Amino acid sequence: MANIAYWNLKKMKTTKKYILHESDMPKFWYNIVADMPNKPMPMLNSQTKQPLQPDDMEAIFAHELVRQEFSAERYIPIPEEVFDLYKIYRPTPLVRASGLEKALDTPAKIYFKNESVSPVGSHKLNSALPQVYFNKIQGIKHLTTETGAGQWGTALSIAGQHFGLDVKVYMVRISYEQKPYRKMVMRTYGAEVIPSPSLTTEAGRKILAETPDTPGSLGTAISEAVETALHSPDTRYALGSTLNHVGLHQTIVGLEAEKQMEIAGDYPDIVIGCFGGGSNFSGIAFPFLRHKFTEGKDVRAIAAEPASCPKLTHGIFQYDYGDAIGFTPMIPMYTLGHDFTPASIHAGGLRYHGAGALVSQLRRDGFVEAVDVDQIETFKAGVLFARNEGIIPAPESAHAIAVAIREALKAKEEGTEKVILFNLSGHGLIDIASYEQYFCNELQNYQPSANEINESVSKLDKLL
Ligand SMILES: *Cc1c(COP(=O)(O)O)cnc(C)c1O
Repeated sequence: MANIAYWNLKKMKTTKKYILHESDMPKFWYNIVADMPNKPMPMLNSQTKQPLQPDDMEAIFAHELVRQEFSAERYIPIPEEVFDLYKIYRPTPLVRASGLEKALDTPAKIYFKNESVSPVGSHKLNSALPQVYFNKIQGIKHLTTETGAGQWGTALSIAGQHFGLDVKVYMVRISYEQKPYRKMVMRTYGAEVIPSPSLTTEAGRKILAETPDTPGSLGTAISEAVETALHSPDTRYALGSTLNHVGLHQTIVGLEAEKQMEIAGDYPDIVIGCFGGGSNFSGIAFPFLRHKFTEGKDVRAIAAEPASCPKLTHGIFQYDYGDAIGFTPMIPMYTLGHDFTPASIHAGGLRYHGAGALVSQLRRDGFVEAVDVDQIETFKAGVLFARNEGIIPAPESAHAIAVAIREALKAKEEGTEKVILFNLSGHGLIDIASYEQYFCNELQNYQPSANEINESVSKLDKLL
């Protein structure tokens, strides 16, 4: 028996996955601000239009999160309490997509970081845990938040449970209706879930009065959650993407991947993440961009966004609000305009009008590339990946897979052995109904017209 096992091992050509020990997990998050050639422009106070001060944010966010938001320190320590809970699912595997490579018959080597192994099925828990922790040590009792596809709300719900805070989630109405399972998961984790827009806030009532049939948007749900936090005692708001501190927490993804790629003996030519507000993309890409800035490494970082919500490829760089109503500070971002309502595609987590300030600055400076992918190509890529790697990807993550496939096919054409790394930000088991729609040819491609985008962004100049 022993001999047969030995023989099988010898026959194995490539290692399938690279696993770190818990003790190899990074003890710090990486803050790219320290190494950016051009620092991001300051956020502005939405009332005074003056550079935002940390104090301005503390009514909404926990103190330590605000400190991180403004920090230029290169490494920020991960608290032990957070580290211990990370161990439930971290370090996550780095996987060689050998099945996909074979299906594409490409000389490229494709690796993915598997964030779908987290108990909530996505990368979102990487920031939910520290966010709840930093609220808890400050004595905060309640958190409000928004959720699109339900991933962030789910992560915050279980993180709240771990640290003993209660969580109220405003869920974009279209997802609340299309994805009832996510709502059930949040309730199982002990959260209260409210479809947005709702009648429970002024922001929600205003939008319902104007557009009663609206599918809702992340921007609107953020407005409702922030309003509720501002008007309730011992309550703060938590945001699952866009802000610097969220991307910071996600860098554990790229920091682990960096070690794992080293073990694999490869270095990525291309790093790809799907793009909603930018957190999982920042998480996988920033630690590698660090090598570009500090060691002159030649690595491309590509953000994969949906054609229906193309802020990085078709938006403009402007100061804009992070939400639909204007509660958040004004952020220097690539945006489609804060009241842009994207078509109801199935990658709900990518239906957000703007990109975070750090990614926006990096894109402006040419360090980040962006491409858009339509819904049909996305699901086609998702199915190919599922059938060859065994994991059904979240529709969001399938955007990154689609771009990885494009690059692998390009490498085949050119006959080059490119090394491609993408982030599998989540699995799609709870989104499985959207795959069924794809098979029934019920999915459509949506692309906002240039006019539609112009109209939406033309309102922005009035903001300053
Ligand atoms: C939320 C989500 C995204 C998009 O958010 P980012 O902040 O851009 O990462 C992508 N993939 C999955 C699985 C998500 O849950």
